[in-house]
Amino acid sequence: MHRYSLIAALLASALSALPAAAQTPPPASASAPAADPRYVWDLSPLFADDAAWDAERQAILAALPQLRALRDGFGADAAALARAMDSISAWNQRISRVGVYANAQASTDNRNARNQERQSLMRSLGGQYASSLSWVDGAIRGLGPERINAFLAAEPALMKHEKRLRDVLRLAAHQLTPEAEAALAAFGPVMGAATQTRTLLTTVDASWPTIEVDGKTETLNDIGYQRLRAHPDRAVREEVFKRFFGAYGKLQNSLGSLLAQRVETGVVNARLRQYPSAVAASLAANDIPESVYRTLVAETNKGLPTLHRYLKLRQQMLGLPNLGYHDIYPDLVKSERRYTPEQSGEITVASVAPFGADYQRRLREALGARTMHVFPAPGKSSGAYQSGVYGLTPLIFLNHQGTFDSLSTFTHEWGHGMHTILANGSQPYETAGYPLFLAEIAAFSHELLLQRHLLAQARSKEERLYLLSEAVERLRGAYFRQTMFAEFELMTHDALQRGEPLTGQRMTQMYCGLLKKYHGHDAGVMAIDPVVCSEWALIPHFHRPFYVYQYATSYAAAAYFVEQIADKKPGMPQTYLDVLRSGGSVAPVPRLRAAGLDMNTPAPYQALIRHMDKLMDEMERLLAQKA
Ligand SMILES: [Zn+2]
Repeated sequence: MHRYSLIAALLASALSALPAAAQTPPPASASAPAADPRYVWDLSPLFADDAAWDAERQAILAALPQLRALRDGFGADAAALARAMDSISAWNQRISRVGVYANAQASTDNRNARNQERQSLMRSLGGQYASSLSWVDGAIRGLGPERINAFLAAEPALMKHEKRLRDVLRLAAHQLTPEAEAALAAFGPVMGAATQTRTLLTTVDASWPTIEVDGKTETLNDIGYQRLRAHPDRAVREEVFKRFFGAYGKLQNSLGSLLAQRVETGVVNARLRQYPSAVAASLAANDIPESVYRTLVAETNKGLPTLHRYLKLRQQMLGLPNLGYHDIYPDLVKSERRYTPEQSGEITVASVAPFGADYQRRLREALGARTMHVFPAPGKSSGAYQSGVYGLTPLIFLNHQGTFDSLSTFTHEWGHGMHTILANGSQPYETAGYPLFLAEIAAFSHELLLQRHLLAQARSKEERLYLLSEAVERLRGAYFRQTMFAEFELMTHDALQRGEPLTGQRMTQMYCGLLKKYHGHDAGVMAIDPVVCSEWALIPHFHRPFYVYQYATSYAAAAYFVEQIADKKPGMPQTYLDVLRSGGSVAPVPRLRAAGLDMNTPAPYQALIRHMDKLMDEMERLLAQKA
């Protein structure tokens, strides 16, 4: 979670949940010990009870005039600037705790009226808080780089605010006049309306086909599709894909028009603010150069033969005469192995041994702090997330069902948790919050270490094949698929920027080209049925442009670091752990470069593709052995 982006902090919920992960709400089994206090987080270090939470909310409400008043004399001299920034920082920290508590309570039971009410109070508080401080960036820009530099040189108390001050100055050149900014802000809700319309159209107004499966009538909406897409019967899968994608295809004109509005908003915004492109404008917020994005896409394209190799292996292992898009989700190997939360903790601690004994000790300590909400329960949100609170052990939200997937998620979220613990331990509150571009690196590194650890222990051929196939499938979903999405975002924005019309039909054509390229249609790897080319229409993330690429860049960076650590390269793992400790104190791309990893070069992407090829080398060796 990003701490000084207040709106994000206030509205954040499942920020760390990977979009590729299954999002079907798990059924609450009657035997799940949901209420066992060992598996339910203790929120009392945040607030003793709901009354304490509400008292804090009211204290913040009462302080809003004080926050507005900070404008008088803001930056009169270096000491005054430091005092004002300190005060804002302290209130930011207080409101973020209020937000974390409200979100945490709501996600454990969305049906609970008090939880809903608390969230609504929080949204209202968040809006008022943000508007009470909306003058700050303008006031910082008003001081200008010369005064700010002089203040920073004169006042050591300003050091912890330096990153924030410089970020505002860095973006100042793209700021419009105050009148234009105010007008744009007023139109903000209108420009964001396309996303809301899409949600209403797909979840409420559209009617979805039904299908008879295993004697039951299933509705093929997003949830039904996710439930059935890995069905063991190929004919069922094929029918599910035809009907479900076909239904989205019928909406391609409306959904295309809505997405085109979102794309055009980005293109116009970039033009007004004098950025070379929409992607550059979007990435500027976190100081990521556009070349990183384009390097990811270019290098992934070069690595497509590795994805094709996996798809052929998949066809062979499933024993199919040919391969279709509906053959992507079924498990290649079944595993009945189950992991309790305690076992998941033990395995995670053991697997991170390459990070050193101190890392393991801190993780063990955090696992014992009762900050996890472990099991599925009625009304509980789906998925998983980590929520950092400065000065406290992070909260970890899970829906643990004991499968390998649950174990991986457990490990993944504690990767975020350890990132938070290390950053909080080394940074002041102001620079502890790390950007998403770095966040997933810690989580994927944990996953990669888990895979290595389990493979090192696995004895049977079946178990090894299971672990290898899960690892390779994860690379398909979290790296190649996310990059394909990233490339689609680039294509739609680039087309509009060139002045080409952007319609749903055109998007379907573009997406078809990408599906065919990524899945080796022309090379005879997988035949893409035109009906699945409407898949773009069902991906909600396209309404948050230039976001998902960070899963791919992070996976590549994690593969690079884990390879270096496994090879015992000099300075490792300390160099890697120092990246985590640096939190949000330095822009992410230079920070990684200082650790020897340049995201503008092919190296990280090649490391990931090398890793995937190695996994498949062993899979092929195992398959070639006589059973
Ligand atoms: Zn994550």
